[in-house]
Amino acid sequence: MENLSWIQKHDEIFFKNSFSKEDIVYLLSLEGQEEIEFLRQRAYDIATKESGEKVSLRGIIEFSNICSRNCCYCGIRKDAKSVKRYLLSREEIIEIAQKAAVSGYGSVVLQSGERNDEEFIKYVIDVVKGIKDRTKSEKLPEGLGITLSVGEQTEKTYKKFYDAGAHRYLLRIETSDKKFFSKIHPPDQKYDNRLNCLRMLKKIGYQVGTGVMIGIPGQTIDQLASDVLFFRDIDADMIGMGPYIVSQSSLMSSKGMMEKKSLLLLSLKMISATRVVLKDVNIASTTALEAISEDGREKGILFGANVVMPNLSPVDVKSDYLLYEGKPGMEEGSDEYNTDLIQRIRLSGREILFDDWGDSKHFKRRKCLNII
Ligand code: SF4
Repeated sequence: MENLSWIQKHDEIFFKNSFSKEDIVYLLSLEGQEEIEFLRQRAYDIATKESGEKVSLRGIIEFSNICSRNCCYCGIRKDAKSVKRYLLSREEIIEIAQKAAVSGYGSVVLQSGERNDEEFIKYVIDVVKGIKDRTKSEKLPEGLGITLSVGEQTEKTYKKFYDAGAHRYLLRIETSDKKFFSKIHPPDQKYDNRLNCLRMLKKIGYQVGTGVMIGIPGQTIDQLASDVLFFRDIDADMIGMGPYIVSQSSLMSSKGMMEKKSLLLLSLKMISATRVVLKDVNIASTTALEAISEDGREKGILFGANVVMPNLSPVDVKSDYLLYEGKPGMEEGSDEYNTDLIQRIRLSGREILFDDWGDSKHFKRRKCLNII
């Protein structure tokens, strides 16, 4: 009888179309193995129904660790003096992208620290144009799909990047709680500005991705539930969330981090809850999951994610892009474009979507409805 009542409650919540904050708190608070499995299965079923059986690939190229910001949680923030700074040349980046395209990747993410100077903006535009020009093929008539992740910029700059050929942009809000945002960022970084950037990106026509860190010291389940509602309310197309992992060069190093097993479980529940609530968005199974569990990225897929982002940065600079401790995949890219990771995803029961941009179904629907 008791068993029947929780199944009924689950059915009531899991099969809803509209979720309250209390519903999401309930999902994130599930603890029993059977209940978590129920959540995972529901999220997995929605992911495969909405986004297809195949997992999309985004080759991530961390092209520079030079940053003008000082986010308190970040290992490569401007004032982290021990970090060796680098900037890959335009040609190096294009060559990596060309090899990725030949290896079956349909899309890359260009990520760096944040800079707003003209030289950097011009350089990013040149790189995007170069990749577009030199990765066209029969399989990719418009070249590789490009996601940019280079932080807060002006609307004019976002438009220039878009016109150059970038069509997706990832800008994480990190936490949707305004007060908490100000605790983990220095005073010159404003929540409202980041929110405004997300709105500008949408207005321009990008597929817009955002996300949060999970398990930040002082963060509550209530805040995480609000984060899921934030994703829904800003009508995000893509979500990239990761566990908060401490970095010794960050300003928050003394606060420590959650115990890994609990952090992994909470992160996986966030993926599932986001899938159950938002349904047709792209959700990445991020590298940080693998930093706390060897098969973290495969687990992310099993809990409702549909995108993996193998690191294609050159091996000699990977260790200089350490946002947090224990970042995995330092050897990724040396193994014929991550055949090992691809194999592991296959073993977990999913095929890979090759030679395709893997755009967000949510975005395609918005486009069809002419609300873009
Ligand atoms: S999180 Fe991004 S913007 Fe903030 S300090 Fe790190 S690299 Fe710079």
